Amino acid sequence: MEIKRYSRDCTIRVIGISTEKVQTISVIRAIEHVTGLNSVLAVVKDDSSSYDVTLDSKSNAAKILSGVEILDKKDYECSLMYSDTTVVSFMYIPAFIDDDDIIDMLRDREIKIVSPVFRRVVPGTQVADGTRFVKCVFPPHVIALPWSMPFKVGKTTKYYKCVHNNQTKVCSECLSPEHVHKHCPYIICNGCGAQGHVVRRCRSAKCEHCHELPLKV
Ligand SMILES: [Zn+2]
Ligand SMILES: [Zn+2]
Ligand SMILES: [Zn+2]
Repeated sequence: MEIKRYSRDCTIRVIGISTEKVQTISVIRAIEHVTGLNSVLAVVKDDSSSYDVTLDSKSNAAKILSGVEILDKKDYECSLMYSDTTVVSFMYIPAFIDDDDIIDMLRDREIKIVSPVFRRVVPGTQVADGTRFVKCVFPPHVIALPWSMPFKVGKTTKYYKCVHNNQTKVCSECLSPEHVHKHCPYIICNGCGAQGHVVRRCRSAKCEHCHELPLKV
């Protein structure tokens, strides 16, 4: 049997709920209805108006962040318990890429930067080895960053490995842990301009002369 981990970053506070009127069992049932059987590991009364619910994974915790319906159908507000910092490293990116490019890319994803961008050095020297790292605070809806992130190198965009603690697989388009990039509902096809599929899966009619998709002509 797997060991249960009661982790702070998998704990959600359900706010504005009467802990007198709404029983713990109702909270468990309502949440497991969304996250699956046995995914709730702990439900602790915080005060008379909130419950702290620990789930078995960060991705299950994220599923109830947008709110949860319990018994009386009220959409209870939920918030993550932690505001821990996460150290994000970008591996072996070109030395001439500006720190601001890194900061801008993280800020675009609503990530708060709480330290300068540091450069790792070759041990025993002051020479940068290409890897840069920065302390961040992720907003509640960001569970993890993708395994690689795009940077402009001259005129082209290149992807570099991005690593941090507790990293799980997320969509590189919208950072959702629920689907991978090719199934992202927000993606725009660069073959036809429609939303919801990648060009490899595009079914739009091709030009009868050059056999190209509308945007590729
Ligand atoms: Zn997505
Ligand atoms: Zn398309
Ligand atoms: Zn054509």
